[in-house]
Amino acid sequence: MITEEQYQKAKSLVDQYEEQRSKELVENLRCIGCKKPVEPMDGLLAAPTELERSAWDGGTVALVRFGYGSRLHDGDAYYVALCDGCMLAAAGQGIIIQSSSTTLL
Ligand SMILES: [Zn+2]
Repeated sequence: MITEEQYQKAKSLVDQYEEQRSKELVENLRCIGCKKPVEPMDGLLAAPTELERSAWDGGTVALVRFGYGSRLHDGDAYYVALCDGCMLAAAGQGIIIQSSSTTLL
């Protein structure tokens, strides 16, 4: 059993770690197509392990997993940033597949 003070001290350390880790991940996110930064909307950043749930200004971040058949290791996962312009261009060229009944613009 830990005391309330020990709990608060440990929680503070975890919060500081999460904040630092979040900044490291966000600074490195660039569109996979044009390399422009894809930045989080102010104050809406999800946990560093759930970046696909955040709101992104002018784009999105997706979690991509590689499985059996890939030359990457089975189960490898990456956060991939895409800007709206590159996504719409790819859709217009028919090189991406749209999911379900949602539409792009
Ligand atoms: Zn782009």
